[in-house]
Amino acid sequence: MQIIERLVPGYERVVICRDEESGLHAVIAIHDTRRGPGVGGCRMWPFADEDAALFDALRLSRGMSQKNAVAELPLGGGKSVILGDPARDKSEALLRAFGRCVESLGGRYIVAEDVGIRVDDIETIALETEYVAGRRGGRAASGDPSPFTAQGVHVGLRTAATRHLSRADLRGLRVAVQGVGSVGMALCERLHADGARLIVSDPSDARTREATERFGAQVVAPDAILASECEVFAPCALGGILDDRGVATLRTRVVGGAANNQLALPRHGDALAARGILYVPDFVLNAGGIVNVAAELAGNYDAAAVAAQVDTIAERVDKLLHDAARTGRPTHRLALAWADRKLAEGSPVSRSARRRATG
Ligand code: NAD
Repeated sequence: MQIIERLVPGYERVVICRDEESGLHAVIAIHDTRRGPGVGGCRMWPFADEDAALFDALRLSRGMSQKNAVAELPLGGGKSVILGDPARDKSEALLRAFGRCVESLGGRYIVAEDVGIRVDDIETIALETEYVAGRRGGRAASGDPSPFTAQGVHVGLRTAATRHLSRADLRGLRVAVQGVGSVGMALCERLHADGARLIVSDPSDARTREATERFGAQVVAPDAILASECEVFAPCALGGILDDRGVATLRTRVVGGAANNQLALPRHGDALAARGILYVPDFVLNAGGIVNVAAELAGNYDAAAVAAQVDTIAERVDKLLHDAARTGRPTHRLALAWADRKLAEGSPVSRSARRRATG
């Protein structure tokens, strides 16, 4: 196994892991551990090359620092990516080699699920390292975080509909969901129960068929979803979709979903605001899964308490939209400043210990 350090300004530690025997080629990025160990999922994806994987890992790990800070969790930001097609290239040997790489970082990075990495895979990684979360079994196991992520997106979108669309609930609203994977499908279930009219897209026919059969969703092609006329557009696939073309294409009034790093660049958030489209920042809205993971790491997992904590995402969205209305500043700028403030405060655990010590 080769573990190569990469010095990246603004990041605490970045390593490239290569294991010839198993074919592992991965990047682990630890952005900021001032609030606690860097926690974030592992994504397996057929990246074009190492630079593309590194770019994604860096953006995703910074997003985790921001998400964990705004959600008031005693966790920092980290993320990992494995280069490869999860359907073809995943093997026990590869996952175990990755586990050894995580172990070598001594707990500064804790891995959980993300796109292409499921609970079963986390169990395999756990054969080599204790620094895992989102486990199925064992002490305080919290399982798949996706239903909690969907819950947080759902309650946050309800708040957005109240504030921006003057609606008491989501009944009758057209919601376009891009990607009906673990989070997208669970979100559709909740939106359907609320009486929303669903439009979905996903390259997987099986997933879109399921959304139609269960929720009466209308299916559009993946390249047509951004242009779907709707009140809410919920990105639940991959990041970077809100670029110049994406922003210009949208025919919606609210954007809010689970996908990380939806804005290609911060200026695309400004462009959304200029079009009068409310953007609910991804790292504020999609924190439900990490709240669940944090409860597991704290060792006192209680699903009902987690669900109540996830519901507080609605309050944070409400505060953000209130501040945006008061200051006239775009929501993503306010959210970034909020995260920076929380990161500068450092660990909530040591702060409360300091308070106790000073009486
Ligand atoms: P997933 O892999 O289960 O689902 C992703 C879905 O998107 C798949 O069904 C895939 O076929 C589909 N997809 C891929 N490209 C697409 C395209 N161009 N158009 C439409 N659909 C496309 O992943 P997930 O766990 O549901 O996560 C979805 C997103 O939410 C990811 O960006 C992830 O990082 C983010 N997220 C997930 C969680 C969680 O708890 N799982 C938490 C926070 C953020």
